[in-house]
Amino acid sequence: MINKLIIATSNQDKVNEITSILNVNIKIIPMKCCGRFPTIIEDGETLEENASKKARIAAKFFKSWAIADDSGLEVDCLNGLPGVYSARFAGNQCSYNDNNKKLLRLLRYKTNRRATFKTVIAIANPSGQVTLVFGKIFGTIYNNMKGYNGFGYDSVFYLPQYKKTLAELNFKTKNLISHRAKALKKLKNLLRKSY
Ligand code: IMP
Repeated sequence: MINKLIIATSNQDKVNEITSILNVNIKIIPMKCCGRFPTIIEDGETLEENASKKARIAAKFFKSWAIADDSGLEVDCLNGLPGVYSARFAGNQCSYNDNNKKLLRLLRYKTNRRATFKTVIAIANPSGQVTLVFGKIFGTIYNNMKGYNGFGYDSVFYLPQYKKTLAELNFKTKNLISHRAKALKKLKNLLRKSY
């Protein structure tokens, strides 16, 4: 029986979405609220590797069940970039705005603007054994930043079926349809069935 889940991220935007979407009868604790916590370097070559590493290290460090989210934006005409490099696309310590500006610059004259947002969520038991769940959403990269909600690449990720970017959707709608929502729905089923 799991009564507590540590979230191995320091990204408050992710924590907000994960706690709201997961909405289970388990205490969810962001790692930074635990006092001492491990430094985790995201040096994997895939989202799967990074999510697994973060969840495994946190689970072993806190001797607790832990989850970690690694997400990436894959743009077709950039051969899947920024992908696993999404967080530091414009360089180390760059802002969301820097990443979006770089992406828009690279796509300035591109007509194929198709893109996929992917999330991998890893759940690890206290001895570090990991299970993965996945979610993805298809869209295009808009010509400029549009909308003020969400975070990261939300203001450039356009959903033709809504005629809106993710940043123009409200919190509730994004959290019903997003890549993260799809992965967390699977995690919820897993928690219900297996643990
Ligand atoms: P990571 O999973 O923390 O490595 O995030 C990769 C990059 O994608 C970061 O720049 C995040 O801000 C961005 N990102 C992660 N999730 C989302 C999302 O749901 N919408 C928009 N950007 C996101």
